[in-house]
Amino acid sequence: LKTTPACTRDGTAIELHANIELPSDLADVYENGATGIGLFRSEFLFLNRDILPDEEEQFVAYRKVAEGMKGLPVTIRTFDLGADKQLNGVQRVASNPALGLRAIRLCLVEPQLFFTQLRALLRASHYGNVKILIPMLSGMSEINQTLQFITNAKQSLDDEGIPYNREIKIGGMIEIPAAALMMDVFIGKLDFLSIGTNDLIQYTLAIDRTDEEVAHLYDPLHPAVLYLLAHIIGKANDAGVPISVCGEMAGHDEYTRLLLGLGLRQFSMNSAQLLCVKQRVLTTNLPGIVTLMQKILRANDPLEIRDLMNKLNAV
Ligand code: PEP
Ligand code: MG
Repeated sequence: LKTTPACTRDGTAIELHANIELPSDLADVYENGATGIGLFRSEFLFLNRDILPDEEEQFVAYRKVAEGMKGLPVTIRTFDLGADKQLNGVQRVASNPALGLRAIRLCLVEPQLFFTQLRALLRASHYGNVKILIPMLSGMSEINQTLQFITNAKQSLDDEGIPYNREIKIGGMIEIPAAALMMDVFIGKLDFLSIGTNDLIQYTLAIDRTDEEVAHLYDPLHPAVLYLLAHIIGKANDAGVPISVCGEMAGHDEYTRLLLGLGLRQFSMNSAQLLCVKQRVLTTNLPGIVTLMQKILRANDPLEIRDLMNKLNAV
């Protein structure tokens, strides 16, 4: 199973990538036969310390993973700090951290922090197939500011004669409903997209993902979530812009057929989940699930959706 290509019964090729949080997670990536890294969370650089990691330290860590994957894609996400991933040194008090200064918002007001990371990422791109992924983008202004930062970081490397991949792909996470509703802007400005279902569900349903009291209301199958997923994936596919899901939904095999039926062809998940998801892919016949998918997308009743999901997973 590890070496079998992920392909549906009707012959559609699917990419199954891994999510990692530490360079040392690479062993599990090999062990489970991932064909790339779809999400490398870079926050590990801040764990249990008070000083910020400098450019060299970051470069060494990113390069290690880039080289380790031997030409396969390595998608590294810029710092998603704040909210559920607090930064020791730059702690801020926010009454509602999930809606506060986190991820790209924090990076754009801490230019030195962001610039240092971008230079390290660009330098690592010389040693492997590195792509840069930006978390929590909400619209055009943040995208433009981010791209300008990247242009400036490239220029500074050029000035010093330091090599990097000039064609490096820049992607954005779709994890805020506003982004989902502005797909045309994201498609027009970015090279690839990745859906962060963990946050997309949190913000769509107004459910704090870290609050146990409302955990039972956190529902990936809520009709509004399915509607947004269908919209996002459909728009990206129509435009020919690569789209993946890197939230938890991608790693649970009960959702594999649903996501395939919505048109998803690239999944990224914890390595340990990869072979279960691959098994589902191998047993799925896409033309055979079209009618059930249409029913699921028309259903408004959660109980009916669950019933249809059972049927989808039983065919
Ligand atoms: C997500 O939101 O789905 C995601 C992959 O990012 P994180 O869980 O790190 O916020
Ligand atoms: Mg997220």
